[in-house]
Amino acid sequence: MDIILLGPPGSGKGTQAKMVADKYHVKHISTGDILRENVRNGTPLGKEADSYMKKGQLVPDQLLVNIIKDRLAQPDVKGGWMLDGYPRTIPQAEALEKILPSLGQKIDVVLNIDVPDKDLVDRLSGRRMCKCGVSYHLQFNPPKVPGKCDVCNGELYHRSDDQAEAIMKRLDAYHKQTQPLIDYYNKKGITATINGSGDIKKIFAEVSKALDKKV
Ligand code: AMP
Repeated sequence: MDIILLGPPGSGKGTQAKMVADKYHVKHISTGDILRENVRNGTPLGKEADSYMKKGQLVPDQLLVNIIKDRLAQPDVKGGWMLDGYPRTIPQAEALEKILPSLGQKIDVVLNIDVPDKDLVDRLSGRRMCKCGVSYHLQFNPPKVPGKCDVCNGELYHRSDDQAEAIMKRLDAYHKQTQPLIDYYNKKGITATINGSGDIKKIFAEVSKALDKKV
């Protein structure tokens, strides 16, 4: 099954994507994770992306289209994938539509996680991340030992784009550039909207219900 996960920053896409990947045996592909790894490794792509990411802006479409084209052509995603953080603009969605037929792939479902803006700011400012990809929240989902990852014992960090000024820019970018995708995919009749407020397990139950209709 090939799935797109849409939702504003802080809507819990990453958390839900990991749970979906485990249950439905699809590959979790997060463009944010791919970009952060490139920034950490100081690659040319990472150097170019970093300046946009720090400011809470979207990285130019062409860079993302190249990333996704390469990633979807790799053999480990043939059994199905879940895209988390791509597409984020209409041109990215259009590019994806052109790429997929040549790979023999198609989008089965678009999950749209809906969370009101006022909750997103609280979620993002309290979020703490581990390099292994697991995320925590100081108040809603704290690690067992403060500052340490429950899974790998790594040091938790506060993403530079989870600071107040960048959060507001990211929400603005979401509303202006990404939200129009909901309409775009609604018109194709492949969207399921999920209420992303409340308990992680309850949200996952809704996500599973939507996906079970497709398998
Ligand atoms: P995320 O981890 O999905 O919140 O992404 C973190 C940041 O990476 C975003 O704020 C953007 O700067 C950049 N980014 C990730 N995915 C994309 C994308 N599809 N298009 C443009 N920029 C992206």
